[in-house]
Amino acid sequence: MKLHARLDDLPFENHFERLDPAYYSRVDPAPLSDVRLLHFNAGLAAELGLDSATAGDAGLTEALAGNRKITAGCYLATVYAGHQFGSYVPQLGDGRAIMVGQVRDARGGLRELQLKGAGPTPYSRFADGRAVLRSSIREYLCGEAMHALGIATTRSLSLIGSSLPVRRETLERAAVICRVAPSHVRFGHFEYFYLLQRHEMLKPLADLVIDDHYPELAGFPNRYAAWLSEVVERTARTIAQWQAVGFCHGVMNTDNMSVLGLTLDYGPYGFLDAFDSHHICNHTDEGGRYAYDQQPTIGHWNCSRLLQATLPLLHEDPDQAVEIANGILNRYPAAYTTRMMELWRAKFGLRSAQEADRELINRFLNLLDRGKNDFSLSFRALGELRIDAASTPLLRDLITDREGFDAWLADYRARLQFDGEDEAARRARMHAVNPKYLLRNHLLQAAIERAEAGDADEIDRLFRIVQRPFDEQPENQAYAAEPPPEARHISVSCSS
Ligand code: AMP
Ligand code: MG
Repeated sequence: MKLHARLDDLPFENHFERLDPAYYSRVDPAPLSDVRLLHFNAGLAAELGLDSATAGDAGLTEALAGNRKITAGCYLATVYAGHQFGSYVPQLGDGRAIMVGQVRDARGGLRELQLKGAGPTPYSRFADGRAVLRSSIREYLCGEAMHALGIATTRSLSLIGSSLPVRRETLERAAVICRVAPSHVRFGHFEYFYLLQRHEMLKPLADLVIDDHYPELAGFPNRYAAWLSEVVERTARTIAQWQAVGFCHGVMNTDNMSVLGLTLDYGPYGFLDAFDSHHICNHTDEGGRYAYDQQPTIGHWNCSRLLQATLPLLHEDPDQAVEIANGILNRYPAAYTTRMMELWRAKFGLRSAQEADRELINRFLNLLDRGKNDFSLSFRALGELRIDAASTPLLRDLITDREGFDAWLADYRARLQFDGEDEAARRARMHAVNPKYLLRNHLLQAAIERAEAGDADEIDRLFRIVQRPFDEQPENQAYAAEPPPEARHISVSCSS
């Protein structure tokens, strides 16, 4: 693929602006002063056909900050609604994200570029349209971390800091990321038009999503049912992957749910340190609606909201539409459980599927839960375990309930023997799915504090570490450790 020297030269197609303007508003980004490129995602740039040698180019920074509009861009904010913590909010929308447009990537797929934090839009309500440096670093790095973990996600091309003061709980500085995904369309886009009773608006939006992102469904007799089934299955599978790496999203409102099954909108997220099945990563979520163990059920409920909003696409007879929608929604539990069991088996190094595996898996998770043992380090250590009963595994020192562990271990060893695989091969397979390096909150916190003090080096260091989550990286050993005691309860809120 030809690499372009300027963002302006990318082959923009801007499919979204082909829709009726009822779906969006044109907006100009509001310029920022003293912009500085704090990080540039060279790998993603290459996928977009952009020469990363342009990273030092002032013109690029200005464009990615929203200080300069590129002529090929469309610059618009889209309208959506959503269920926030269970209650319907009839109008949200891109309150601080401005779509620059869509380009073709190296493999011919569409990628949408969006400037997040580039100033107010008609959907900002009473807020300022900005994003603070802290939350921009969190989103920038996590997109990359999740991508490297093999989890469908939005990513970001650039992170730009500025001197603009922004008031949150304290005074912070504004930043802008250029977010990139095949599409940022959310469940809430459909809810908006459904609940306004403008049902005729559903079809053109669904057609855009299907034509651009699900072309294989084009010829299906009921393409909307086929598409929604795929959304439900992708959502279930993505959430299973979150559970497998201990990722807590924090704000699983329907306006943060992607119709492509991507992980979208990184706010007060967190990776589990100590395993706590009821862990709540967002301290604003007092009731624990989005706790770790609630995520799969919430994913299902969110899909029910999407299916409600798309009933008019399924059948003209309302009763039949409901019947079809229920059939689609019922795919979720099986899709989730099947994927989750595959992922657990891989994490435990089990090759065959046995009836009793579920119990063996749950017993181990209960041990971790009771002892509040580190989730990722425990699985990593499990990969080091020898079948030979004479050896005492390293893991035993980590687990608090030693007796319970010994009993479990005997059964686990027997189970591994049943599969009868070579130890080295099992270890390699387990290490390829049990990450050693995660974007833990205390690591992020350190990078944020340094960046706020003017030093962006730690952002780059974390960026590189989380790109290789399964590798040993002996030089970065300290980044694999559980948080020091004083950093165990970093609290993260919705404020961003
Ligand atoms: P979030 O909680 O970030 O998913 O945002 C929920 C809604 O509030 C979305 O419509 C956002 O665009 C909007 N929003 C959040 N923060 C801001 C902000 N600082 N300025 C404008 N809109 C915002
Ligand atoms: Mg959001």
